[in-house]
Amino acid sequence: MPGGEHHQPAPGAFDLLDLGPGRNTTVFRLTLAFMILVLVTFISVEGWRAWRDYRHAYDFARDSVTNLARATAQHAEDAIRQVDILTYTLGERVEGDGLATIDVPRIHAMMVQQSRIMPQLHGLFIYGADGRWIVTDKDVTPDTANNADREYFNYHRTHTDHRVRIGNVVKSRSTDELIIPVSRRLNNPDGSFAGVLLGTIKLSYFMDYYGDFKIDDRGALVLAMRNGTILVRRPFVDSVVGQSLADSEVFKNYLPYANEGVAEVKAVVDGTHRLYGFRALSSYPLVVEAGLSRESFVGPWRHDLLKSGLVLLLLVAVFIGFAFIVLSQLRSRMAMESEIRLAHQAVKDMALTDSLTGLGNRRRLDMALQSEIGRAKRQRYPLALIMLDIDYFKRFNDRYGHAAGDDCLRQVAQAINGVLRRPADLAVRYGGEEFTVLLPDTDIRGAGRLAENILQAIRGLALEHADHPEQFVTASAGVTVRSPALEDTTPAGMIKAADAYLYFAKNNGRNRWYADKDVQASADGKV
Ligand code: GH3
Ligand code: MG
Ligand code: MG
Repeated sequence: MPGGEHHQPAPGAFDLLDLGPGRNTTVFRLTLAFMILVLVTFISVEGWRAWRDYRHAYDFARDSVTNLARATAQHAEDAIRQVDILTYTLGERVEGDGLATIDVPRIHAMMVQQSRIMPQLHGLFIYGADGRWIVTDKDVTPDTANNADREYFNYHRTHTDHRVRIGNVVKSRSTDELIIPVSRRLNNPDGSFAGVLLGTIKLSYFMDYYGDFKIDDRGALVLAMRNGTILVRRPFVDSVVGQSLADSEVFKNYLPYANEGVAEVKAVVDGTHRLYGFRALSSYPLVVEAGLSRESFVGPWRHDLLKSGLVLLLLVAVFIGFAFIVLSQLRSRMAMESEIRLAHQAVKDMALTDSLTGLGNRRRLDMALQSEIGRAKRQRYPLALIMLDIDYFKRFNDRYGHAAGDDCLRQVAQAINGVLRRPADLAVRYGGEEFTVLLPDTDIRGAGRLAENILQAIRGLALEHADHPEQFVTASAGVTVRSPALEDTTPAGMIKAADAYLYFAKNNGRNRWYADKDVQASADGKV
């Protein structure tokens, strides 16, 4: 276990992901994926909601401008139609009577009465063929007044058609008010030009109506001629009256193809982006436009978006902070766990390893022997055990010193281990200068061959031993082989048997091995 001094560096975002393989990594990745999923879902839902809100705001504005256009078109149509009907009946009458012989007081009284009941009407006028005022709804008809110079007068004088005509806005000569002239030609019985009948509509009548609508400051309501000339517009700016919208997108790109619709365009008059509902009047060459500034419906939506966006941002930040803490906790916990596991493994290995030679120790043998006996019994194969002891090792120590003795032990251990081939074969240092080799699934022939090979390998080291009759280091061995499936086998029994043959080898000249049922075999160790 690492002590309190152990320093764990604070994990960075990438360190968090930098993990080795394993089950812990899977847990970590799953947690991370889940958090990302939650975050993405969170943002997606909010994004979808914002989009839906925008669509709602847009659709609502669309409906509003469509309704506004319909209402203003209807209003204009009604106002003009009334004047149309009135001038028509009046014209019939005047033409019937003959303009030269009309009953002026009677017509005047009738005009006064009609003006009173029609709020849009500014005045009614009859001009003679020379432009002179013949009769009006006004109390005084100035003798000198002459309207022969008016554009509509000229038009009717030179055009024979009888239809009502709507003219551009002009300033009234009688009241100085801005008015829209609605005029028609009067004929003599022979069809020649007799004069003009004029009804004028107050611009203020439309302004009052348009002013009543609750639309934002930048919204617009427009009544224009079909050729684009503006008659009335809210916001009311005098200079705008008479301007042409002929080059505006609605007039250029929409009205030629449809009598009504919705268009999102930039206004030519003030440059404001608006959503316009437009509609051409059915009976007169007029067009209305009702526009809401884009800002009027996008503004509140944006404001809302900003607020919920800030809240979302805050939540996301908190979530990421939280995720970061959780993940780094998880990571350090995992790191700690793997450290503990490693430490545990190290302790376990240490407990089972001989520190001098690196082979297993006696405890390792105890554990392995017990389980190998069980396995050999189940799988019905023989199990061999070789006990080795270095010859005259006390003398070696005495002559060359303990350090050289230790070195000798290490080399012998390596020599033993070098002979083993199968993964299941196990060599341990049993204690002092004694070694044990456990060989699962090995019969007496195989075990004998291995014992011989090991002794040969030790001899092959050619370690000098001046107090040995052979002058080099050798070892003796005892070999036992059991079939646990067939005979009662215990660890102690096997060790005791191998030890007995080792003792036998020692007593019979050393540098040799003896085995079960082979105690009488030759000193060469041949089975
Ligand atoms: P024999 O041929 O009968 O086995 O004689 P021997 O001298 O090898 O046997 P003995 O049991 O009398 O002596 C064993 C010696 O091994 C005792 C000790 O000096 C030595 N020894 C035991 N363990 C160690 C060790 O860890 N390192 C070293 N250097 N020597 C050891
Ligand atoms: Mg010994
Ligand atoms: Mg010995």
